[in-house]
Parts: sequence; C-alpha cells; structure tokens
Amino acid sequence: MSVLAANKEIPLLQVKNLKKFFPVTNSLGRVTGQVKAVNNVSFEINAGETYGLVGESGCGKSTTGRTVMRLLEPTSGEGIYQGKDLYSLKGKELHSMRKDLQMVFQDPYSSLNPRKRIGHILEETLKIHRIGDKKERMERVMDMLHRVGFQSEQYYRYPHEFSGGQRQRIGLARALMVNPKLIICDEPVSALDVSIQSQVLNLLEEIQDEFHLAYLFISHDLSVVRHISDRIGVMYLGQLVEEALTDELYANPLHPYTKALLSAVPVPNPAVKRERITLRGEVPSPLNPPSGCVFHTRCPHATEICKREVPVKKLVTTDHAVACHLF
Ligand code: SF4
Repeated sequence: MSVLAANKEIPLLQVKNLKKFFPVTNSLGRVTGQVKAVNNVSFEINAGETYGLVGESGCGKSTTGRTVMRLLEPTSGEGIYQGKDLYSLKGKELHSMRKDLQMVFQDPYSSLNPRKRIGHILEETLKIHRIGDKKERMERVMDMLHRVGFQSEQYYRYPHEFSGGQRQRIGLARALMVNPKLIICDEPVSALDVSIQSQVLNLLEEIQDEFHLAYLFISHDLSVVRHISDRIGVMYLGQLVEEALTDELYANPLHPYTKALLSAVPVPNPAVKRERITLRGEVPSPLNPPSGCVFHTRCPHATEICKREVPVKKLVTTDHAVACHLF
C-alpha cells in the first residue's frame, strides 16, 4: 500500500507494489534477463485530483501509466479502481473500465487515423461503447469540439490540417467523449512550443473542474508538473523514491535524487540563489539495477548500508514520504 495516502476518502485508484519486467532473450530465444522497468511502485489517486509522476526519460513512468491502463499487463502487483481489481477484469467489465480510464499521448498524431475526418474519429469512441444513435453522437461530437475550442466546420477536417497544439486538444476531446473519471496524460505537452503548452495545460485544468476528472500526469518537466499537480511522485530507475504534496516537495525536497532534479530547474527570481547539484555517472541499466538503494551509484550521501539494503518508503510528515536511509 502507498505510504502516502491520497487522503481519508476512498481513493479512485490504488496501485500497490506494481511490477512490470520485460524479458530479454538471446538469439536462441532463451530468456537471459529481465528489464525491471517498474519495480514495486505504489501510489493512490483521488477523484478530481492530479497526481504528477516525474523523473528522467527511461525511469519507468510511462510504463507505469500504460500498465495502469492495461495497455501492458503487469508482472505482478495490484491496481484497484473503485474497489475493483483492474487486472482481473475481463469481457464487459474490462470494456466498461476502459470507458472510465482514458489516455492522452505525447504525440496525438500517431494515434489519429490520417484517413478519417476529426468528427468521425471522435464519433468512433462513442460507437465502440455503443453510446447514442447517429444524430445524438453527432451532437455530442459537435458539443465536445466547441468545448475544446474548435468551430463546427472543423468536424470535417483531417488530422494533418491541424497544428500540434490543436491535435493535442483533439486527443483530449476524444478521451472526454465517454465521460471518463481518470485520464492518464503521458507527456501531453512535451512536444509543444512553450506558448502552446500553457494553452493545453489551462484547458486541462478547466475541464478537470467541469468534469471532476482525476489525472495521472506523467512528465519529465518539473515546471510543468508543478503547475498542474496536487501531489507528486518522483521516480528513479523503476522505483518511486519520494512522494509529497506539490508545494511541500518543491519547498522541502528530501531524497538526494529529488534535490538534484530540482536544483536543475531555473528559478525565475534572480535574487534566489540555488546551488546546482550535478550527479556523477550515468543512470544504471534497468536490466541490472544496483543492489540496495538503486540510487547509491550516483548519490553524494551513499554509505555502506545503501549498497546492501533497499530503503523502505517512510512517512516523514503526513504529506511527505521518502525512501532513503537518511530518514
Ligand atoms: Fe543516497 Fe543512501 Fe539515501 Fe539511497 S538510501 S538516496 S544512496 S543516502
């Protein structure tokens, strides 16, 4: 169970000890190892909340999102969505769960059929879930297009006729068509110009209030995650090393990896001096992660115990948990 509970309500989603390993095979097809992309990750998300998952590329945050969505099956662990075990759902129950949990990708272009008009792409989601007749579906698509800032005539346009920011709004509209409760946003603004990023982030916030949505917001960009998240989990090499309310994490980072990440974020106030922490070495391979604390090969505070024992995630305050032998 996550040490840092979303709050006293029953969470919308609970992820417990989630593992996703990918087997590595040799030329004879024999399994020679496992890439430990996600290793024992636990967290919770409440209805209407944004949980930011942050870390460098390759730390396992996108794999976590895809495994929660069941685009990938977990190696082990639990996902409890509204009291139901996500990983044992089949048939109709799985189909219905897919309506509640939607995903927005970094590159919406690759997930939009280039031969279909935007209106038809949005309508398809309703057809899959057998919602409405033809007339009702068209009305719902038009409403949604207007809601995300498009004109009626754009119903008939093709994906290539839109800019990157507009395509991301289409991706969001498609996710919203079935009234989801949780949207997993996987680097949704990383490919956009900074000016367009803020438009998409503002839209995400507006529709969150309107639809009472929860987000699992995955990003490597700490400024973006800070802007949108209520709580944040920091991932390193497949593990969640720190979790806190957003303001608490930025004001008082505890894990040496979080401190290093935050030290690299530019501070808008020139009067505030922040010491830049440069980490030594490269991120180790998830095929052969270090023993004990996975961060010990790069940590400036590592001691003997760090090489031997995996630190357990502990609550430091009611809103702040960290996995480090220093605490
Ligand atoms: Fe550094 Fe040890 Fe803490 Fe890991 S457990 S972050 S190596 S001090």
